[in-house]
Amino acid sequence: MTRRGHTAETLETRARTLALAHEAVLLRELDGRVLYWSEGARALYGWSPEEALGQVSHALLGASADEALAQAEAQLLREGSWTGEQVHATRAGEYVAVHVRWVLDADASGRQRVYESHRNISARKAAERRQGETLALLDSILDTAPVGLSFVDRDLRFVRINRVLAAINGVPVEQTVGRTLREVIGDGMADLVEPVYRYVFESGEPVLERELAGSLLGAPQRRAWRVSYYPVQDGTGYVSVVGMVVQDITESLREQERTARLQAATSALSRALTPEDVARVVLGEAVQALGARRGLAYLRQRESGSLHVLAEVGYTEADPVPERKRVLQADDVDPCLEVLHTGEPMWLESTAQLFAQVPAFVPLPAHQTSQAWAVLPMLVDGQPVGTLLLSFAQARPLTPPDRSFLRVLAQQCALALERARLYREAQAALQLRDDFLSVASHELTTPLTPLLLKLQQLRREAEGTAPGQQPRARALQGLGVVAAQVRRLSTLTHNLLDVSRVSEGRLRLECAPVDLAEVVREVCGELAPQAARAGAALQVHAPSSVPGHWDRLRLEQVVTNLVSNALKYGAGKPVRVALRTEGEGESGSAVLQVEDEGIGIAPEQLQHIFEKFQRAVTDTRYSGLGLGLYIVRQIVQAHGGRIDVASTPGVGTTFTVRLPRTGA
Ligand code: ADP
Repeated sequence: MTRRGHTAETLETRARTLALAHEAVLLRELDGRVLYWSEGARALYGWSPEEALGQVSHALLGASADEALAQAEAQLLREGSWTGEQVHATRAGEYVAVHVRWVLDADASGRQRVYESHRNISARKAAERRQGETLALLDSILDTAPVGLSFVDRDLRFVRINRVLAAINGVPVEQTVGRTLREVIGDGMADLVEPVYRYVFESGEPVLERELAGSLLGAPQRRAWRVSYYPVQDGTGYVSVVGMVVQDITESLREQERTARLQAATSALSRALTPEDVARVVLGEAVQALGARRGLAYLRQRESGSLHVLAEVGYTEADPVPERKRVLQADDVDPCLEVLHTGEPMWLESTAQLFAQVPAFVPLPAHQTSQAWAVLPMLVDGQPVGTLLLSFAQARPLTPPDRSFLRVLAQQCALALERARLYREAQAALQLRDDFLSVASHELTTPLTPLLLKLQQLRREAEGTAPGQQPRARALQGLGVVAAQVRRLSTLTHNLLDVSRVSEGRLRLECAPVDLAEVVREVCGELAPQAARAGAALQVHAPSSVPGHWDRLRLEQVVTNLVSNALKYGAGKPVRVALRTEGEGESGSAVLQVEDEGIGIAPEQLQHIFEKFQRAVTDTRYSGLGLGLYIVRQIVQAHGGRIDVASTPGVGTTFTVRLPRTGA
């Protein structure tokens, strides 16, 4: 066989083989002119071999001579082959995507030629595009879902994950896909989660609503989640992937915990009776719920407005409440006082905020200082009762849930403190009532004994059985005693009646022109026997007349009470009653002073002696109900006047009454 014949035969064989091939095959010169065009090529592109032969293939197939083509040619010459994807036009003007392979060959004469095989991949491309669209849709669903979502394959590698879950894990999506669970979430959590995945893969059963808590490699703060696992099966029932849905429930668990704490606090508060108990319960719950370093509760003194520590949590013997913080005077500069002025809590999340909000605050030494504080006023009906202070070791945000929790707690504490105060007052009132009842029964029965004795004596005399003395003189003396005791009883009874009238707001004055000088002289005259019994000189200094518009009987009561007290507590020393006027006529006032040199009143008792049932003496030698001064003050005030007392124990007491001349 000649060399030429051999070549022809080879070509023919190849061509036949190629013609059988499913693919489009063509042979071309290096410059592109087509030497062979297979049936497959006709089927793919629509050009017949006759039409194609001699044409430049790229041009025939509508490929432009661009950079990509030049690079393909270069690689072909360099390496003897090129493989890639191209888009070609058919005879009918349609585009087909093809997978192309070029192989360099040489003919017998050593002339270089190129074999090309083209495979139609349009269908695959379309499928890929559709799949790509489906996946893009899936991704957008994954990323817009408000929950964390992921898919994990049988090697426990992340196939897909959405941004919510990536954020929960603290690892970006790009660094998650393709990595194993263990690599992404860390050993601790992987130990918990891997067995669940294995179960789902093997059983094909979902695992729903599992609650999990712990910390993740990329997000070390302990959190809690609710997780469900769903098997994703292929057509044969084989589980190739497990999908997971995660919800972060840390906040709602925290919320639950706080609600539980509030309930615990409420029930503990309903049992806590002393203010100290109340404050300790509340501080304990607050410190624990917020992880505070320590806490202080202050009670506000009603009179001075100063704050006194009521309870403390988290302070130790080695690290006690700083002396300066134990009592805060009303005019100190401190956030704890500040919140009582504004009625609003202060959320000091850092030292910078403390100084920004309370610029004049002088900080404590550094080692005592915390880094963040929550300061809450405790108010009842808008009135300040005290302050709660929580300190944190580190600067930290106080979130809206933190804040509302503390507000509710402070409110609860304020109410409980108020209740404790009322309870204490009620206890004191009960004590007072008991004391009063025992004093009253003693006071009321004391006159009865001499009264009875005298009455029996008078009876015997009337029957003429008493020996000795002239009957009439003795009867008169006896009647005098009876009258005195009856007066004493009636005064006591009147006082009691007055108290109930005054308490019910029924003290009504019947004002008319009255000469107070006359009243003073008359009363002192009536009290002369009592002064004589006490061995005290009763001196009256009064102008001839001090007219005014007053309730005469009530003023008699005032003078009687003050003068008889001075005689009773005056230790037998002189008692001076002085009356004068101040100012002119109608706009002026009458000033009455009753002064003794008796036992005096202790300073701490002074403010209480005008209260109901309050007595400054316990000595049984001094009888009384503790009502006189209460009634006196009510009468004086009803007249628009005032009463003051000055006293030194062991030296004496002066009561001063000022009455406007026009009365009430
Ligand atoms: P009482 O019936 O006890 O005298 P009052 O209301 O008149 O009640 O007085 C209240 C208390 O004030 C008395 O118990 C006494 O301790 C004190 N007090 C009143 N007047 C004098 C006085 N002139 N000197 C000392 N103590 C007095």
